[in-house]
Amino acid sequence: MRDFGRRLLDLLYPPKCAFCRRLVEDGHMLCPECAEELPYVDPENLVQLTDGGLRCVSALWYDNTVRASHHRYKFRGAAAYCGVYGELMTAALEDSGLEGDIVTWVPLSRSRLRRRGYDQARLLAEEVAAGMDLPCEALLRKTVNNPAQSGRASAAERRQNVKGVYEVTENPEGLRIILVDDLVTTGATLSEAAGELLGAGAESVVGLTLARA
Ligand SMILES: [Zn+2]
Repeated sequence: MRDFGRRLLDLLYPPKCAFCRRLVEDGHMLCPECAEELPYVDPENLVQLTDGGLRCVSALWYDNTVRASHHRYKFRGAAAYCGVYGELMTAALEDSGLEGDIVTWVPLSRSRLRRRGYDQARLLAEEVAAGMDLPCEALLRKTVNNPAQSGRASAAERRQNVKGVYEVTENPEGLRIILVDDLVTTGATLSEAAGELLGAGAESVVGLTLARA
């Protein structure tokens, strides 16, 4: 029955590549051309040290193709992209050699989650956790509905904008945590969230994103 439903869905909405939107055959949302040509972060730059001193691994550079795909994912309901994004992120993390015991994500505020209907970072965290055979748990809560980081230009403004907006909800003592978000720019958001986890006793935190701007 699941196969039948799947085939029917494929007839109604033929699967397309998440990046170039060409039709793809096997339901895998990455065409061979994009698999070859995506702007992968080169192996020697896989790990970026953010402003706040957090090690962060990203699969792709945020070029025009990735930006357009990410916008469909984040703002236009293309939640199904989480599968292929998660695979790219898992591969990047494995290539980086960095490790963790548990996967979590940088959460949306409740009001934004209500409006969007899904938490784009959570879906990615679940995919990465499944790919690495690790547990995925909510460890953080967003307590302040601050303005979007995209409106803040400087690194200092970005740090100020996210200061104190996350709260730890589960005891992370002794855990090596993989902290997932969709995008990293200066790393202010990831560093702030990681700081809360480390302050509550986490052993280590590594950031993991789909793309690096
Ligand atoms: Zn493609």
